[in-house]
Amino acid sequence: MEPMPGRVRADPMVIVGGGVAGGNAAAALREEGFGGRIVLVSKEPGVPFGRPPLSKTYLRSEEELQGWYVRPAAWYPENSVEVLTGSRVQGVDAAAHTVALDSGQEVRYQKLLLATGGKNRRLEVPGADLAGIHSLRTVAECDAIKAEVEANRHAVVVGMGFIGCEVAASLAQLGVRVTALVSGDAPLDKVLGADVGGVVAGFHRANGVELLTRERAAAFAGTDRVTAVVTATGTRIACDFAVVGVGIAVDVPPVVGDSVALSNGILADEFCRTSAADVYAAGDVANQLHPLFGRVRVEHFNNAEKQGAAAGRSMLGSDAPYDYVHTFWSDQYEHKIEYVGHAVTWDEFVVRGSIADGRLIGFYLQDGIVRAAVGVDRGGDPEADSGGEMAAAARLVAQRARSTRGVLADERTDLWSLTRDK
Ligand SMILES: Cc1cc2nc3c(=O)[nH]c(=O)nc-3n(C[C@H](O)[C@H](O)[C@H](O)COP(=O)(O)OP(=O)(O)OC[C@H]3O[C@@H](n4cnc5c(N)ncnc54)[C@H](O)[C@@H]3O)c2cc1C
Repeated sequence: MEPMPGRVRADPMVIVGGGVAGGNAAAALREEGFGGRIVLVSKEPGVPFGRPPLSKTYLRSEEELQGWYVRPAAWYPENSVEVLTGSRVQGVDAAAHTVALDSGQEVRYQKLLLATGGKNRRLEVPGADLAGIHSLRTVAECDAIKAEVEANRHAVVVGMGFIGCEVAASLAQLGVRVTALVSGDAPLDKVLGADVGGVVAGFHRANGVELLTRERAAAFAGTDRVTAVVTATGTRIACDFAVVGVGIAVDVPPVVGDSVALSNGILADEFCRTSAADVYAAGDVANQLHPLFGRVRVEHFNNAEKQGAAAGRSMLGSDAPYDYVHTFWSDQYEHKIEYVGHAVTWDEFVVRGSIADGRLIGFYLQDGIVRAAVGVDRGGDPEADSGGEMAAAARLVAQRARSTRGVLADERTDLWSLTRDK
């Protein structure tokens, strides 16, 4: 790649955020041949790692986290990447090209990546500060939930998005009795639709989780510790502990000097550039102008990994737009959900396989165009199984393929035959 244009070349590349996006940006900078200083600032302890095991294998004490490190801990000193852990950027001056750390130190940058992710939303209800009420994003928060786990204790999981579903599944697998509050009619129905939501509900019920639909937490009761959750309809559920999974809010440090435009996250273009010169954004915090999907901000591991690396390459002057066809997965019990594409709304949902059997690929169509697909225990991992049905679905999404219910639902149709490069 071209040598760095612009700012004083001796100034470092600075990455704010030591998650998957920040870690992959640092790796891409080095691995694409950038020889200058790289400084990665992270509020958390430890090196960048992936969070997926925190609601699954690590929570169930089946796996340590090393396998999820973006790069082994020794890679950073070996590659002269300066990792400032437990350190918070409290402000950015985008005109002066400096970041201010909570230690009082000021760090100049030639290019800056904001990969600051999100922080858990809190429930603003009475009793929300009681001990025994948990949320989950960090290792420390996961360890606190692990410390509550004991067979036959009773947990209430508030919110059945992906984190709530996975935590409910893991707790049930550990012998904890789980009651879950679902704001809609079924877990995940807003993201995946009513049909797949119903399948997911079946998985949880089959494993003994009690689902209370159209319910929200209105208050937590207890003196020192939570002893019950009171729902909006007045039901009181006695519990030993609670886990709240009601989404995240993006975490953006204050920026002065040159404004960084915000709207549902940090607005970034196809090259991960923000509105401020030399400032980039990637991962959960970035609302990117995607060549295929338009404006999109997602909260998925695969995006954080690939967009972080793409931002690193853009910081080095790459002119390749970031056009990854989004994918994500969720593991609940023995079940695997895979998703490709991006569809917030759709006018047709086509099932290939069987809702009743809980094994299917579902296609989300808008005006006859395949915008996204979900695989439930079927279709393979589109990242790992390049010949599988979900990989074919990803190709259909990338090609904005048109299709029909009759063709997609017909098991005799080879999905690859519908792609342009069969
Ligand atoms: C429990 C759990 C399970 C998940 N499972 C899956 C899954 O199965 N599949 C999937 O696709 N996705 C999953 N995800 C989502 C995925 O982990 C996120 O999309 C990913 O973590 C986003 O990475 P990121 O680097 O953008 O942000 P983050 O991981 O949030 O990292 C941002 C980092 O920046 C730091 N930071 C923020 N502000 C500052 C500041 N001012 N100064 C210094 N540091 C700062 C934060 O402390 C944090 O360390 C899961 C998430 C969680 C929490």
